Amino acid sequence: MFAVDLGGTHLRVALVDDSGNILQHLKQETPHGDSPDGILDALAGAARAWNCAVVAASIMVPGAVDAEKAVVVAAPNLPSLINFPLKAELQQRLGWPVVLENDANASAVGEMWLGAARGCNDVVSVTLGTGVGGGVIHNGKLWRGSHGSAGEIGHTTVDPFSGLKCKCGNTGCLELFASATAIVRMAREQGMDAVSAEKVYEAGRSGDETALSVFTRCGMYLGIGLANLINLIDPQVIVITGGAVNGWDLFASEMYRQVEERAVRATAQQVRIARSECGDNAGLLGAARLAFEPAIG
Ligand SMILES: [Zn+2]
Repeated sequence: MFAVDLGGTHLRVALVDDSGNILQHLKQETPHGDSPDGILDALAGAARAWNCAVVAASIMVPGAVDAEKAVVVAAPNLPSLINFPLKAELQQRLGWPVVLENDANASAVGEMWLGAARGCNDVVSVTLGTGVGGGVIHNGKLWRGSHGSAGEIGHTTVDPFSGLKCKCGNTGCLELFASATAIVRMAREQGMDAVSAEKVYEAGRSGDETALSVFTRCGMYLGIGLANLINLIDPQVIVITGGAVNGWDLFASEMYRQVEERAVRATAQQVRIARSECGDNAGLLGAARLAFEPAIG
């Protein structure tokens, strides 16, 4: 399977077999521009170079996908893709059937296939990246909602009085406190010279009190969001994925504390909250799985 992780910063392409082995892998900067031609050229180039027994391609995109029309309808970090007939164009260029999926949904599927949610069929994944995304799987199948936007946990309100405005238009969204972007912002608000979430994490690991308080705050809001999620969905497992999950050892205890305090106790005691086991590859593997097993989508 030709699986693609089309991110706002990096474009990753992999050849994945039906056991989830990554046979080939390529990573480059995502070509930006007014049109998606650069992206199409890069994918077609990789497909030609690997020239092997590919049966289909599966592309995960950082935005909302209209599953019926097979177009990207929202992609804040890749605006050239919006309303572009990506599926049709790629099918023509590559000569294979193409599957399009939102990145958070693909990550949930990847973790269910080979990661922390193996063997489960009621799964929620929460991706802590530039923003906060969510993917919901119910009875082994992606739960999209009636209008395709189920699982938007990043835009659930966790602090309406914070005064912080989110790009979605709401105030006090979870992603304003639990994304990599939020970690950097909160560190700067506390006077740290923070350039990345990774640097804040390193400072926290070496005992910096300010950095530690940033991660505690992140864990607090994440825990509030997860408690709401548990009360609403009662999944078998919630898998936390994305780059900022690297801060797990600094935010997890506060996250668990909030869940224990706020979610319905009997349920919360049974819902497992786990750290991603697929790491960076959750989405790529999920994309491949969705092409191997279309029934999941
Ligand atoms: Zn929002």
